[in-house]
Amino acid sequence: MTTEPSSTIIDGKLIAKKIRDEIASEVARIKDSTGIVPGLAVILVGSRKDSQTYVRNKKKACEEVGIASFEVSLPEDCTEEDVIKHISDFNNNPSVHAILVQLPLPQHINEEKILNAVAIEKDVDGFHPLNIGRLAMQGRDPLFIPCTPKGCMELLHRYNVEIKGKRAVVIGRSNIVGMPAALLLQRANATISIIHSKTKNPEEITRQADILISAAGVPNMVRGSWLKPGAVVIDVGINAVDDAHSARGYRLVGDVCFEEASRVASAITPVPGGVGPMTIAMLLSNTLSSAKRIHDLK
Ligand code: NAP
Repeated sequence: MTTEPSSTIIDGKLIAKKIRDEIASEVARIKDSTGIVPGLAVILVGSRKDSQTYVRNKKKACEEVGIASFEVSLPEDCTEEDVIKHISDFNNNPSVHAILVQLPLPQHINEEKILNAVAIEKDVDGFHPLNIGRLAMQGRDPLFIPCTPKGCMELLHRYNVEIKGKRAVVIGRSNIVGMPAALLLQRANATISIIHSKTKNPEEITRQADILISAAGVPNMVRGSWLKPGAVVIDVGINAVDDAHSARGYRLVGDVCFEEASRVASAITPVPGGVGPMTIAMLLSNTLSSAKRIHDLK
């Protein structure tokens, strides 16, 4: 006997579309009333195909909501000084309200030095240590929250998932997803545990979670048996696995074994169509907020 999936599917694609529509109206309102157009600058170093695709998608998303996009593509062998010079130009450009350096950078470039060069007022990814530091401190607010974890929280809010007082578990502790996701859940008054590659018996910890956010980058690692019945599962992982039936020869799966988990969880994000579309929507949202803050607009 087979059991049908019982989970609510958390539709990131739909929510992201709603958010992009809200942003487009707000951008148009601001432009009509003040002439100000929010602007996002993206710096791409090297010729990684995946990074080029991400940058192209970000540019297209900006155009669709009326945000101006600025782009600089630098060769793989450029120097740190070249990158910092462009960051500095964007820091000083009043038409640019948000700056994003596409990661990863080539090996010879010091990521920390580059991210530190972005003006905190324009650090749309929220990766500047001052923004992360403020995220970690009680009573302080970062100017920007990193886009992917912010997208996870937005999904929880828009599906009315109660966070306060709940047990939340995050798999992964990276600077861009796991660590800020855990800080955000804690700020929302969840009690958090973080699992990483050295954690022993992770499934014993995940089984306590009312809310699980997984950002490990390991395909189908979280099985149905790892979950507490009724848990809410946000799957950040995007992993390519071989698939001879697909025209591309591969398909994308999350960290969570969706087929099993959707029989145990009360709600779950699919991959693709869950967190992925939310990341770009949050980038647009952060760019709009930045323009409003810089020009003191309501
Ligand atoms: P990352 O920098 O490689 O970090 C992965 C984290 O997972 C690390 O903290 C690592 O632990 C932990 N980990 C790895 N294997 C593990 C295991 N077997 N058990 C428990 N923990 C394990 O990756 P990331 O940049 O955070 O990205 C994570 C995933 O999210 C990737 O699949 C990525 O493609 C996806 N992603 C999606 C979006 C989106 O928009 N949906 C955005 C960004 C990333 P250690 O710290 O001990 O090494």
